[in-house]
Amino acid sequence: MRIERRRRTNRRLAGIGASGGIALGPAHVVAGGGMDVPERRLAARAVAAEQTRFGTAVEDARDELAALAARAEMLPGAARGEMTFLLDAHLQMLTGSRLVRGVYRRIGDKRVNAEAAVKAELSAIADAFAAMEDAYLAQRAQDVRDVARRLIRHLTEAPANAFSGLAAGTILIAEELSPADIALLDPKRIGGFATELGGPQGHTAIMARSLGLPAVVGVPGLSKRVLEGDTVIVDGASGVLTVAPNPETVAAAKRRRNTLRRERRTLAKLRDVPAVTRDGIAVSLRANLELPGELGAALESGAEGIGLLRTEFLYMNRSDPPDAEVQFAVLRDMVEGMGGSPVVARTLDIGTDKLAYALDESVAAQVGANPALGLRAIRLSLSDRPLLETQLEAMLRAGRHGDLKILLPMITAPQEVRQTRAAMRRVARRLKRAGVAIAEPLPALGAMIETPAAALSADRLCSECDFLSLGTNDLTMYTLAVDRGDEHVASLYDPLHPAVLRLIQFSADAANRAARPLTVCGEIAGEPRLTPLLVGLGLTDLSMVPGSLPAVKKRIRAIEAGAARDLADHVMRETDPRRIADHIDRFNDRL
Ligand code: PEP
Ligand code: MG
Repeated sequence: MRIERRRRTNRRLAGIGASGGIALGPAHVVAGGGMDVPERRLAARAVAAEQTRFGTAVEDARDELAALAARAEMLPGAARGEMTFLLDAHLQMLTGSRLVRGVYRRIGDKRVNAEAAVKAELSAIADAFAAMEDAYLAQRAQDVRDVARRLIRHLTEAPANAFSGLAAGTILIAEELSPADIALLDPKRIGGFATELGGPQGHTAIMARSLGLPAVVGVPGLSKRVLEGDTVIVDGASGVLTVAPNPETVAAAKRRRNTLRRERRTLAKLRDVPAVTRDGIAVSLRANLELPGELGAALESGAEGIGLLRTEFLYMNRSDPPDAEVQFAVLRDMVEGMGGSPVVARTLDIGTDKLAYALDESVAAQVGANPALGLRAIRLSLSDRPLLETQLEAMLRAGRHGDLKILLPMITAPQEVRQTRAAMRRVARRLKRAGVAIAEPLPALGAMIETPAAALSADRLCSECDFLSLGTNDLTMYTLAVDRGDEHVASLYDPLHPAVLRLIQFSADAANRAARPLTVCGEIAGEPRLTPLLVGLGLTDLSMVPGSLPAVKKRIRAIEAGAARDLADHVMRETDPRRIADHIDRFNDRL
């Protein structure tokens, strides 16, 4: 208590704004690495049942590891040896290890629930390992942590429990949140979040924007500077977190929040007006979706379809990959939900950001030590045929229920598209032979242009693809060699760098010449400030988080495409990113 009283009020912690808006509420400090577990005291008579419940979780975890080990036998070369070794080590740890024995003891001695006992035992083991200061043992500590997580997942059964007991409006404070963690949040209950790690273009930040959750990332020392229950204000635009705000700061935050709400209501009135420039150029605006729950927001935003459906959510927070039936049911509902408007479903794009600790290990193991440059996205799909064919089957079947197109992530060469098209035809023949109804003609197949290789081969890709999609998030990352999810280099991440703009222009010109539709689905598509430049470059098909759509539409209706083309000419002649930004800002200021 004494320490509490000495803490200053109105402490401002500066980070990086990741998702706009103001949230005000009590802090919940999330324990590291997905270990946010419920804790409760047990009555003496409940101890035996709790120990039995723990025993069942150990058994289930062992069965799961044995099944994974069987699948790992099918992995290619070195990955097989590595995986088998790892899974064996984890299996051993579930057989009378210190972890398992310690948990049984804690449930009895401390009378706590099994999840809390696993967490406490893990922390004791980790402390003991850390004291030994040995790199090999530090790695073993990671293995114990992985096993503990697996046990907790089996104990909590539904991972959706993780944040469900929190008071409405709670602000999550965490070292790091993964996209899989965000997928578990109820955006109606959680007010916003702040993290110590992460950049504003990482998938966690993108998901926050999608869900309209105010968020700040990259706040140094965050978890040590906020205590459970502290009142905090998240200002997702300026990137500032205020801890224990004084009454004036609270009043100012509430005023700002009300203004933003009013602005949103005004913008929502644009839902049914066309996105056309003052000189009559129509721009197609579609929505990017991360989770099926965002479909309503996409429809309300007035989107003309789903320009990018990221299918990673299908694989999050589960221990086994979803089969074709599960994927088909979800995709069919989404396609039907869009009532005839196109849905561009992208095949799995695992890599860079951590997806989920519960992600099938046999998949995760293949992603490699440097996932951004490893077996990411289409590379993984082409090397793991069951993974690709399961997705293609679901997509071909869902395509029967509406307008579904298939998009391939992280393409670097035309043969990747050719190989996928051949796989799609094979799956189609198999399904037809089995009498399963699929889309006919087969769905259009498109490539993401999100690597410099793809951008510089855009003309070649045009002859392999039915459409293209510009992923400027990764294109910026790979062109500038700046990790989009790393807060330390966030200031170097600049889609207005001339090198990135030249790749965008090259791609746009190639698509134009070949008359192939080209959508921009990177985050710049949802930034009204950059709308004039994109329109000026001839990019009139934009896909973005649903919440950005009205503001982009408003900007389109305010500009002349002719003037936007002049702006693009000026910008493309510049070599200095600051002068490029000045040109753009002056153009917008004059509107
Ligand atoms: C991109 O890279 O711009 C893109 C849209 O894909 P993602 O953000 O999912 O990597
Ligand atoms: Mg990408």
